[in-house]
Amino acid sequence: MTEKQKKELILSVRNVSKRFTSKNVCVRAVTNVSFDVHKGETIGIVGESGCGKTTLGRCIVRAIEASEGEVVYKTLAGQEVDFLKVDKKQMKGIRKEIQMIFQDPYSSLDPRMTVLDIIAEPIVANYPKMPKAEREQLVKDIAAKVGLNTTYLMRYPHAFSGGQRQRIGIARALILKPQLIVCDEAVSALDVSIQAQIINLLRDLQREMDLTYIFISHDLSVVEHISDKVGVMYLGRMVEFGETEKLFASPKHPYTEALLSAVPVADPDVQMERIPLQGEIPNPANPPSGCYFHARCRYCEHRCTVEAPELHEVDGRMVACHRAKELHLRGFDYSQASEA
Ligand code: SF4
Repeated sequence: MTEKQKKELILSVRNVSKRFTSKNVCVRAVTNVSFDVHKGETIGIVGESGCGKTTLGRCIVRAIEASEGEVVYKTLAGQEVDFLKVDKKQMKGIRKEIQMIFQDPYSSLDPRMTVLDIIAEPIVANYPKMPKAEREQLVKDIAAKVGLNTTYLMRYPHAFSGGQRQRIGIARALILKPQLIVCDEAVSALDVSIQAQIINLLRDLQREMDLTYIFISHDLSVVEHISDKVGVMYLGRMVEFGETEKLFASPKHPYTEALLSAVPVADPDVQMERIPLQGEIPNPANPPSGCYFHARCRYCEHRCTVEAPELHEVDGRMVACHRAKELHLRGFDYSQASEA
């Protein structure tokens, strides 16, 4: 990544919220989330199941509509638009540049379509007049780039392994030459050794095709391997955001510290003290007062139970914790980390 690319802001997520209302019950799935994404970088979004990270990803690509907020996107042509407000016609043009890779390679591919047709589908939808031979050549080129055997493209998805199916999903996301890809638990359904292959593939493709990723995962060791910056979400809110290495080495939020303590270590003789998270994640339809994390936090004091902490900067990090400046939290030891 060049210095110029590092500085080019291509996506600015501003105060995005998403509420789901059903039978007079309002669930705040995402609340006031903001972060920036620069060209060529990977932003990891982590948190336990139900923390709102997948909903946030879907709001960003407009797979679902956000309740509030802005997603200012800089197109490849250099135009800045609020992607959440553009009309359908504009959205179709920008969608080519923002793609998504889904969690489950088993269910995200249509079992009745050949792999060639699955990968070609976005081309058919966006360039219906493209000659068949040209389209098929594009499919073969992208299939080869993601490591698929191009002689098998007339087969159906069930004939492929989990890792190969995820390569098909990646080829499909890349065929329109996007700028930004949101990867939603893209390797979670795969065996650990296949996870490493797919992560290495995503990194190689990022360098080759100048891609930018938002990488959503519950697995911190995976996020640590691929991300330049990490955002930690808890009950729909961003509680910590910063550079991966710093955030892992010295977390500033007690929730980040607890998550890091649960990352597996490679050496069975090394005992890492695991910080237990007391209780369950609170009900987002009825969140606690003050800091949403207070009932599970071992550093909780009275103020935390009545006053919600705002995100503020602490040592170059954004943190939502009243005690972030005074606490000395335990980081994650890279030398003991297991391979993703
Ligand atoms: Fe814990 Fe209080 Fe910080 Fe919340 S604000 S994370 S309860 S110390």
